[in-house]
Amino acid sequence: MGGGIWHTPPPAVGGRPRRVPVVEVTGVRHRYHSPEGETLALDGVDLTVEEGEFVSIVGPSGCGKSTLLSLIAGLMRPAEGEVRVRGKPAALGSPRVGYMLQHDHLFEWRTVLDNCLLGLEVRRAVTPAARERVMRLLTECGLEGFARRYPAELSGGMRQRAALVRTLALDPELLLLDEPFGALDYQTRLRLEDEVGKLLKATGKTAILVTHDIAEAISMSDRVVVMSPRPGRIRRIVPIDLGGASDGPLAARRSPRFSYYFDLIWKELGT
Ligand code: ADP
Repeated sequence: MGGGIWHTPPPAVGGRPRRVPVVEVTGVRHRYHSPEGETLALDGVDLTVEEGEFVSIVGPSGCGKSTLLSLIAGLMRPAEGEVRVRGKPAALGSPRVGYMLQHDHLFEWRTVLDNCLLGLEVRRAVTPAARERVMRLLTECGLEGFARRYPAELSGGMRQRAALVRTLALDPELLLLDEPFGALDYQTRLRLEDEVGKLLKATGKTAILVTHDIAEAISMSDRVVVMSPRPGRIRRIVPIDLGGASDGPLAARRSPRFSYYFDLIWKELGT
């Protein structure tokens, strides 16, 4: 079996937890070509994300955050360098990768449950057990009782929850989140960040979040990647340690160290 890294994680060294890379971005440069000319979007980006980590990417608009996420999702190939997921070149349609965007892209003519089953349907994998799992996810995401409703009957926060269930229905091990809370009002956004953060940690998922919200990045992440203006380069990677076992993103905002990280990242972005 061509197992490689997927089947044989490295052994624990000296009692430390295993560090298994899920995403490896190496020397990536990416440019777009359009009638107006060439745009260098990313220039020399290196990033490794390990199993179970939550990493956020922040940076000014147009610095290449979404481009980096699209490369990891396998939607595009980098002009130079390599993007690997579990040791293999990032490829579109990998069952291990779930992608969630700011717009929920729910189909209005399908019920919430049918929207959430869509990916499984495409894979011809709608078994009774899979259906039951989706129903459980709907309950965990506060959507019990809304399975037979249509998206138009849901609030913005509920729609985004449904989109999350649809993404999780395929049980991806890596979640790519591109401003998924961006269109929500402040309170809904905080509540959803908290729920999603706790759910992903509890299920051991690896996640990469693109956001322009520094507080969101700090409260949800193990590390925050700060990018420079275009062409996007990684300016600094800030490991977040808010002290003690985290009680989730909402509690993290109340940590005395929160403002320290906020100032640090703010300064990095401002120069
Ligand atoms: P961010 O997510 O940080 O706002 P993007 O990754 O969307 O940045 O874009 C990075 C740069 O690449 C921007 O200058 C943007 O205008 C340019 N860009 C993005 N997509 C395209 C495209 N399809 N064609 C041409 N230029 C693009």
